[in-house]
Amino acid sequence: MMLALLLARAGVSVVVLEKHGDFLRDFRGDTLHPSTLEIMHELGLLERFLQLPHQKVSRINARFGELSFTLADFSNLPTLCRFVAFMPQWDFLNFLMEEGKRYPTFQIQMNAEATDLVEEGGRIVGLLAQTTDGPLEVRADLVIGADGRHSVVRARAGLSVEELGAPMDVLWFRLSRRPSDPADPVGRFESGRIFIMLNRGEYWQCGFVIAKGTRPQLEAQGLEAFRECVATLAPFAAERVRELQDWNSIKLLTVQVDRLRRWFRDGLLCIGDAAHAMSPVGGVGINSAIQDAVAAANLLATPLREQRVTNEDLRNVQLRREWPTKMTQRVQLAVQNRVIKHVLRNAGPVSPPLAFKLIARFPFLQRIPARMIGLGFRPEHVHSPIVPSV
Ligand SMILES: Cc1cc2nc3c(=O)[nH]c(=O)nc-3n(C[C@H](O)[C@H](O)[C@H](O)COP(=O)(O)OP(=O)(O)OC[C@H]3O[C@@H](n4cnc5c(N)ncnc54)[C@H](O)[C@@H]3O)c2cc1C
Repeated sequence: MMLALLLARAGVSVVVLEKHGDFLRDFRGDTLHPSTLEIMHELGLLERFLQLPHQKVSRINARFGELSFTLADFSNLPTLCRFVAFMPQWDFLNFLMEEGKRYPTFQIQMNAEATDLVEEGGRIVGLLAQTTDGPLEVRADLVIGADGRHSVVRARAGLSVEELGAPMDVLWFRLSRRPSDPADPVGRFESGRIFIMLNRGEYWQCGFVIAKGTRPQLEAQGLEAFRECVATLAPFAAERVRELQDWNSIKLLTVQVDRLRRWFRDGLLCIGDAAHAMSPVGGVGINSAIQDAVAAANLLATPLREQRVTNEDLRNVQLRREWPTKMTQRVQLAVQNRVIKHVLRNAGPVSPPLAFKLIARFPFLQRIPARMIGLGFRPEHVHSPIVPSV
């Protein structure tokens, strides 16, 4: 949606196909980091955007065994917004869509599921979709696969995927929130357990990290045992665990970390999760997808408008975004393998890793995770042109 907005704003005709009829899906990424808010500012949209309901988070606190500390403090970032905005993803997408609709070059078709690519002489020249009105064929100078981590586009393009693996899955659920509860997000690392609570105003969005593929064992132990476990991890909400009435209220996120070796083919480019599914560590998936969109628009808007986009242009998008993606995934894998795997395997008391002890001891070090989470590696800025909207 961000790339479509940027391209339409640059005078490129864009058709967005979305397989669902709306964006209302729960337990999607809901974090908008300072780098994304900076992009909204560069687009002149920030003030209006922040009028939508959201929660501001300036610090991420953690508790590792007996050690409580602030893991990341965004208040020193060199950005206009020194906080993470928590906002339902559908509000963000609807906002971008409405903004896109101001441009005559922007079209969106909901309930249109891409099913295959159209290839001629080895070049992708369009795609096929299933819509409520029947089959649809869209011809285009460039097809962008931005269809998420189960991307049909990347699969049909036959692009080769490098699986990086993850030792965990995440169970997501809600618990109600009371005014007397803490305001900042809570992250707890205990013997064999990792538990995260994100303040969503009237409720907590809770993430319970489990060893990969172990949900069936957890279910076999019974809902009551799970509730007790949650109550121990969040004592202030202990009586609210009754709100978990059955396993259907607890959704499973199967964690997947991968990336394409090559993000493009003649006539086709993948970005966002379709090019690289990110680990939930740091909650950076949305922001890295937005950064891809900005980089792609910067490099492709003019060649697309002049209908002279080449493989070299597509390669440049990959070159621009591959390094930040690899660096982010490298840090995520280090946290997964050195911290998360260790905590999940260890039934006894856990001792914080040296990095966490140092951050707890020297608070200025909180700026490092804040920068990695809040800005990421090599943040992008909007340079794509604007044509006047109607
Ligand atoms: C449970 C969960 C929690 C997460 N939490 C966070 C978080 O807190 N912070 C964070 O930054 N990231 C989080 N993420 C990751 C984040 O949601 C993704 O990294 C990010 O949304 C990727 O953006 P994207 O545009 O590449 O793909 P997506 O957001 O997945 O968007 C793909 C879009 O394409 C549509 N689509 C899919 N297939 C087709 C098709 N065949 N035809 C047409 N349309 C199609 C989908 O309906 C969807 O709207 C979370 C992910 C999950 C699953």
